[in-house]
Amino acid sequence: MGASTVAAQQVRADFTALYGAAPDGVWSAPGRVNLIGEHTDYNDGFVMPFALPHVTTAAVSRRTDGVLRLHSGDVDGGVAELALDALTPGEDHDWTAYPSGVVWALREAGHPVTGADIHLSSTVPTGAGLSSSAALEVVVALALNDLYELGLKRWELARLCQRAENVYVGAPTGIMDQTASACCSAGHALFLDTRDLSQKQIPFDLAAEGMRLLVVDTQVKHTHSNGEYGKRRAGCEKGADLLGVDALRDVPYADLDAALARLGDDEEVRRLVRHVVTEDERVERVVSLLESGDTAAIGPVLTEGHASLRDDFRISCPELDLVVDTALASGALGARMTGGGFGGSAIVLAEESAVPTITKAVEEAFASASYKAPRVFEAVPSAGAARLS
Ligand code: ADP
Ligand code: MG
Repeated sequence: MGASTVAAQQVRADFTALYGAAPDGVWSAPGRVNLIGEHTDYNDGFVMPFALPHVTTAAVSRRTDGVLRLHSGDVDGGVAELALDALTPGEDHDWTAYPSGVVWALREAGHPVTGADIHLSSTVPTGAGLSSSAALEVVVALALNDLYELGLKRWELARLCQRAENVYVGAPTGIMDQTASACCSAGHALFLDTRDLSQKQIPFDLAAEGMRLLVVDTQVKHTHSNGEYGKRRAGCEKGADLLGVDALRDVPYADLDAALARLGDDEEVRRLVRHVVTEDERVERVVSLLESGDTAAIGPVLTEGHASLRDDFRISCPELDLVVDTALASGALGARMTGGGFGGSAIVLAEESAVPTITKAVEEAFASASYKAPRVFEAVPSAGAARLS
């Protein structure tokens, strides 16, 4: 019996104990890691996430009385009971805002959801940049789509989940996380154009090629991350305005030098523009390398991406740089920070045989620097959201 079957049975049993009847079904949705394409999503650019084996599992039943009951095995507290008619954006500030927001977004879009009982349990670490929030939203959206026979496509569910997070929860996130959780496929990375949501599954079967991708969670979150995110976003918009394009995505890589020259002496905007335009080109390069079966060759492209985030976009931090520098010095094929920056996780691509040496070197480097011990795990490109039973 697979791990997901065991998890589904446990969540089903817990639901039954909690609500006094078996659920109508059980669904799961994964967290994700972004392979390449950082801070490109709000510039209408390219991203390339893949799903983790870590999932949020939900047992769900329909209700017809306008009531939403929510329970998470991962937080203290009992069952929350909400009236659907009273759901209001911006008013819930605890975890229930994520599933409530999904129900709100579905109803607001005219879908006849009349209530639900939900119990969930997750193996996605929260707040580590691995998108536990999207896993939670997508599992709820998929369950309701099935139970209410709404017929929504995966990308439409992702859009509704993004709306739930942006408007109901109040967190300004792009479309990558929800699309990854809803649409990824095992053994593949997802090449996503965030402008029109067109997507392509790109073969990324690391194990078959004797390679591994490590996630190193530095366990640091520097407090200025939110304000700095807003500043980068505003700087990118300024760059697009100055260049007369809708979004930086519209600056062709071949025209980068000319574009930078037109930006004159606004050094900060020049750096931001250079990162976004070169990052979109790196995503395209990674896609063509993977499509031609040259997985090891993406290593240096990942490392270039890190240098761009560190030097041009300026959102790395000493802990992330230490992971990258140490991994490369101990034989990694490539490494970069992933996610919003100023903490969170880095990814490291390596031959399987080099993994123990790299892991040990990173752990020792953190100990020598008196940093909190990092959490290192292997990321296997896994399946997107699915009904389990
Ligand atoms: P990330 O998505 O990177 O993990 P976020 O801050 O976007 O970090 O989302 C984390 C929040 O999502 C948690 O603080 C919690 O409110 C909610 N959440 C995620 N997973 C669960 C879960 N299994 N049970 C309850 N709440 C969860
Ligand atoms: Mg999140």
